[in-house]
Amino acid sequence: MRRAVCPGSFDPVTLGHLDIIGRASLLYDELVVAVGMNPSKNRLFSFQERTELLREATAVYDNVVVDSFDGLIVEFCRQREVQVIVKGLRAISDFDYELQMAQMNHGLAGVETMFMTTNPLYSFLSSSLVKEVATYGGDVSGLVPDAVHRRLLERVRATS
Ligand code: ADP
Repeated sequence: MRRAVCPGSFDPVTLGHLDIIGRASLLYDELVVAVGMNPSKNRLFSFQERTELLREATAVYDNVVVDSFDGLIVEFCRQREVQVIVKGLRAISDFDYELQMAQMNHGLAGVETMFMTTNPLYSFLSSSLVKEVATYGGDVSGLVPDAVHRRLLERVRATS
């Protein structure tokens, strides 16, 4: 079985992530979306919330499953028999870091990384920007799934 993984923090999932997930799901038998459990980054949503929102948003794809990882993604790949990591590239600024990661992961475990270029509609879109704009009352309804939008508004109201 050809299996790939899309790893990320998905705090929260955006239409940019979903565009990559949907396109990658057409290329592999199974696509695992792996939510990072690393608690050290500044998160708005808990691991459970991020996972739940992703499950809801990817339910339309028959061959997409949502899982979690902690530590090295290549270790996750070894355990789950995943051959390929899929990453979305938005801009040249993503490239430097992603190149290093891809080379490191290949060196560590022989796992390949495939890069998909962002849909130009979403090339400016990141979870952190969505959170920032939503915090200051900006309209992000066209950038995230409806359920994420509702949850963002609740969270912003609760913290303001
Ligand atoms: P972010 O960088 O938005 O905080 P993640 O760590 O959750 O998000 O990112 C997981 C993966 O999704 C990364 O490979 C990232 O490049 C990709 N990605 C995020 N947003 C987009 C987008 N708008 N278009 C294409 N790929 C994206």
